[in-house]
Amino acid sequence: MKLISTKNNNIISSFKNALFYPMPSDGGLWTFKEIKKMDDTFLKTLHKMSLPDISYNIFKHLDNNNEICDNDLKKICEQTFNIPLPIKKLENNLYIAELFHGNTLAFKDFGATFLANIMNYFINQNTQDIHILTATSGDTGGAVADAFGNTNGNIKVSILYPKNKISKVQEYQMTTQSQNITCYEIDGTFDHCQDIVKRAFMDNEINNNLSSANSINIGRLIAQIFYYFYIYANTPVKNKENIVISIPSGNVGNITGCLIAKKLGLNIKTCIGACNINNTFSQYINSGIAPVKKVIETYSNAMDISNPSNLERIKHIYNNNIEQIQQDVIGTTTNDEQTVNTIKNIYEKYGYIIDPHTAVAIDGFKQIQSNNDVGIIISTAHYCKFLNIVEKAINQKLSLPTRVDNLFSKQTNKISSNNDYNEWKKIFMVTV
Ligand SMILES: *Cc1c(COP(=O)(O)O)cnc(C)c1O
Repeated sequence: MKLISTKNNNIISSFKNALFYPMPSDGGLWTFKEIKKMDDTFLKTLHKMSLPDISYNIFKHLDNNNEICDNDLKKICEQTFNIPLPIKKLENNLYIAELFHGNTLAFKDFGATFLANIMNYFINQNTQDIHILTATSGDTGGAVADAFGNTNGNIKVSILYPKNKISKVQEYQMTTQSQNITCYEIDGTFDHCQDIVKRAFMDNEINNNLSSANSINIGRLIAQIFYYFYIYANTPVKNKENIVISIPSGNVGNITGCLIAKKLGLNIKTCIGACNINNTFSQYINSGIAPVKKVIETYSNAMDISNPSNLERIKHIYNNNIEQIQQDVIGTTTNDEQTVNTIKNIYEKYGYIIDPHTAVAIDGFKQIQSNNDVGIIISTAHYCKFLNIVEKAINQKLSLPTRVDNLFSKQTNKISSNNDYNEWKKIFMVTV
């Protein structure tokens, strides 16, 4: 696979190198040198293919120099993409694609599991030691801990999260994993956690085999391309060119996957970057300028991001041409009040319960829907991860799925630290 830096197209990388060194030396992001359309036979037979088949074909198309041999790639796709992906019909022009049936109940399981399996494949090939260090505001940590916990333990993982600022489900998903996962509960905010991680990557005493599993890693992004073809093929709509895909967006990695899918030949009308009031992305889509903003806490907290890192990739894919971006993306904004009202309305009208992120995407679609549009809403999390908000919105006590209930009887393992880099480093160096 030929990858280049978004900042300098002469800086190139293999896929393997980009997995382990996710940031090019010039501070850009790895992206595809070119995105060629999939061939017509593939696009015409999509409906006959499983998600692992679709994933295998697209990866092979992108990986033109065969970095992963066919049989192994097939195995990895089968192992990774066996997550159920039901598509629910609410009415004739409104469908929900449930991407939250992975182990940690958020769409991030797709990307994190693919990344873990593929890193594990490369590591088994040449016994190189690796230590993943990641900060999380909630969902990423669980998905990464689960994904790497399920590989055979070759890869060590350390995750930093802000104490008392993540939900109970999120904390248990992270801290009840296998031996190779260490969780640090930091007395501070997500920004403190991220600062510690950034300093660790620059610290020569500990950085020699550090790698990252955050959302800018191309290994996670790539997995977020495949399922759009599966969803497209398996939504029973006659005129597919009327499809509008609405995506709850924060760091805009998921929508970047959809836009790459469009370049690969996914024939939809448009997609929506649905933001909460942290709407740097939708403002950029509407005006061509990304405003500098402070993060504001909302009910859809996985999207509380002021500087969406994957925007740089989108600009690169479209040669910085805002008019062309606007042809493929619409930006919308939904506040907390509208989020709660949407959860309530969808429940009253269809008896269907959604989480706050999904609500933002539905509201975004409703804002822009025109006559023939068929909305496919990307549902990124199960509502039980945000139980308090959902219970309040529909005015009802809800029970947790058994899987989550079982989690609470497990032993948690975490190490506490204050938010001072040197204090954390002392603890880190004796634990690993
Ligand atoms: C991470 C996350 C998002 C945002 O996805 P991006 O790729 O960062 O835009 C949306 N919803 C949920 C539930 C998430 O965990």
